[in-house]
Amino acid sequence: MTGMYGPGEGRGAEAGGAADGARGAEGVGAAVAGRLGAGGAGDPAGEATGRGDRFGVAGGDGGAAGPGPAGGAGDRAAPVAEGSRGGPSAAGAWGRRRVLRGVGAVAAGVAGAAVAGNAAAAAAPSRRVPPAGPAGASPSGAEPSGPEPAGVAVCRAGPFEVVALLDAHGTFPMPRADAFPGASAAAWARARRLDPRAFGPDGAWELDFRCFAVRCPGGGVVLVDSGIGPAGSPAASWAPVPGLLPERLAAAGIAPDDVDTVVLSHLHEDHYGWSVAPGGAPAFPRARYVVQAAELAALAPGDAATTYAVAPLRAAGRLHVVDGGTRLAAHRSGGAVTLVPTPGHTPGHQSVVVDGGRRQIVIAGDVVVHAVQLADPAVRYFFEEDPDLARRTRLRLLETAGGRGAVLATAHLNRPFTPLR
Ligand SMILES: [Zn+2]
Repeated sequence: MTGMYGPGEGRGAEAGGAADGARGAEGVGAAVAGRLGAGGAGDPAGEATGRGDRFGVAGGDGGAAGPGPAGGAGDRAAPVAEGSRGGPSAAGAWGRRRVLRGVGAVAAGVAGAAVAGNAAAAAAPSRRVPPAGPAGASPSGAEPSGPEPAGVAVCRAGPFEVVALLDAHGTFPMPRADAFPGASAAAWARARRLDPRAFGPDGAWELDFRCFAVRCPGGGVVLVDSGIGPAGSPAASWAPVPGLLPERLAAAGIAPDDVDTVVLSHLHEDHYGWSVAPGGAPAFPRARYVVQAAELAALAPGDAATTYAVAPLRAAGRLHVVDGGTRLAAHRSGGAVTLVPTPGHTPGHQSVVVDGGRRQIVIAGDVVVHAVQLADPAVRYFFEEDPDLARRTRLRLLETAGGRGAVLATAHLNRPFTPLR
């Protein structure tokens, strides 16, 4: 049933209706669930690996990586996305890819002078990493597992433990009204209730930059995204580098060698920054770095993602290219960790479904970047490469996850976990 997280077909026309109805913080799931008959209990797609407590990407012993699905057909989830390659879109006017690479590119666009004014702030951002508190340390709607270190929050799903790791917090170099064109006043009002910290002064969008680690029974760790990176990383032109992911991992008790899988949801600068150490060596030396083939195929020549991360990881034998839904780990209880394509933000964007049986946690990358897209999933984000596909993907994911009462784990909302029911 992981296929239900895909974009589906022909759903776009329905998305507009998502603006209707009250949708407060307690009602995100109800707003989107049921309209398409979301699937039943989270039965993991594909065949069980039969590995019992053995976790990690299939064959994920740090061995040589190569092309193809992780671990072969038995570990492959059902394909879930069709038409994942977006055609020309509104974003095309900004260049096919990597439009979010810099303040300069943003300032050249419609945001104009207002953005230019914020560009100075972005160049010297006020990094405001919250101490232990509501945003960084309290899993909303999830069962708290006790006091956690600052910037670390934990949500459990069956045998799995999802650890939110706050890499940074900053101000987006574009007013929120321009970043989310077309959002209604009602949607903004609902979003403010869902994520009040996202609303900075003068129309600013305040956002977290977050990664997640999935602890599997038996010791494997799947890291989902690697943040904005150190000073001088490709994200430095607009994001509040350096991030704090290495410190957060240490605080959570996760050593680089513990990580056997790094999932890159997509190849925007704020999601791969800590993948490599200075000099290009893999920062997680035992890990396979899993990326969708469609994401690689869409990289423009000379893209920073290629030079900074993809090429060094490939040279080190650590790049693992998959095509479609892919099982990463399974447990004898029936739980599983599965990749699902969620295209639109980028052509090869992927999410991670952590299915613990009674609870699912969906680590959704940039499918939802602001609470206004929870308030109204039809609201586009300016930097989505294929806005129509991104909208269909978002709607479908929220419907499916909401129907299951899942917890949404997001990179950029100012709280790590959002219950959808
Ligand atoms: Zn992002």
